[in-house]
Amino acid sequence: MSINLRSDVNFITDAFKQEMNEMRSSERGAYARTQNIAWPSEAGCSLGKISVGECTRKMYYRISGVAPTEPMSITGKNVCDAGNLYEDYLINKFKKYGMYKDSQIKLDFLIPDSKHKVQVNGRMDLLIEHNKQRSVIEIKSVSEFKAAKIMNSEIPLPSSSNLMQAMLYKYYTTSTEAGKALNVDNVYLMYVNRSMGSTFYYKVCIDDSGYAILTSYDLAGRELGTVNLKDVKSFEDLERTPGVSESDEARLAELKINIKDIFDKFDKIYDYARSNTLPKCDYNMIYTQAQAEYEHNIGRLSKMKLNKVKKGEVVGDTKCQYCDFRTKCMQDNGISFK
Ligand code: SF4
Repeated sequence: MSINLRSDVNFITDAFKQEMNEMRSSERGAYARTQNIAWPSEAGCSLGKISVGECTRKMYYRISGVAPTEPMSITGKNVCDAGNLYEDYLINKFKKYGMYKDSQIKLDFLIPDSKHKVQVNGRMDLLIEHNKQRSVIEIKSVSEFKAAKIMNSEIPLPSSSNLMQAMLYKYYTTSTEAGKALNVDNVYLMYVNRSMGSTFYYKVCIDDSGYAILTSYDLAGRELGTVNLKDVKSFEDLERTPGVSESDEARLAELKINIKDIFDKFDKIYDYARSNTLPKCDYNMIYTQAQAEYEHNIGRLSKMKLNKVKKGEVVGDTKCQYCDFRTKCMQDNGISFK
């Protein structure tokens, strides 16, 4: 008996090829931004020696119209599509509950005191109304791996990128004329675990000095706690503390973000883009031993990874691992792999 393995798998190969062709033909291609705009999902912030959110260099490439050297893969697209499916599914639930008001709500504002007149442009996922309170909800679906820290940990905390996005929504709805007209009382981040289907919420407020105040709720709406992120230790505090900091302290320090610093970073990116100056990397593609020791001491890098770096193994920031300009960035840093 002979088994023709090729004919068995042909439909998989054909489906794969078709999807690849479809993806490549639907890509818009790289284009330089002529207007100084920034999307909320591109928010980033410098916290002393540590950066959170979008990488300045990555934004520089995107604004300058550089073609990604690592375009989106089919698996990456599947993850994005799954996020959209979850979003539609959850929005439909709010429609059934009679709370739905609107979705994909436009947000458009000029950042204050912006040298480059940067306009923040985006869409907020959902607007609901309940007990005469109107709430914007930004829906994020996450893998089981990410959910462990965001939803199931002893100290649940949102990702810094998601928090900055929600802070921009809060700023828009409370501090701009167009945003105030929406009469929004609250801004929430809603997380859904793609593996388990569980949900989790954070209410995001901004205090008078520009830091976020986070209140977390489980899927039944039980309030779990509130933290004013102005009061948590910064990375500089952790650096000064003798010994190795706890990873939870580092997770909190990552969220000690001031809305003004998000605005400053958007403006600074356009300094680089409009003067054609390549910015430094915000993240470490390959840690030097000194960088790895610093990250370990402030609670951001495990002992195991530090030991790998000490043995000469290549360890870098996960941001770089998943960056769509990885090869271009390596070339610009003079790194090449044969
Ligand atoms: S590879 Fe890393 S440092 Fe380079 S652009 Fe991407 S995220 Fe930034």
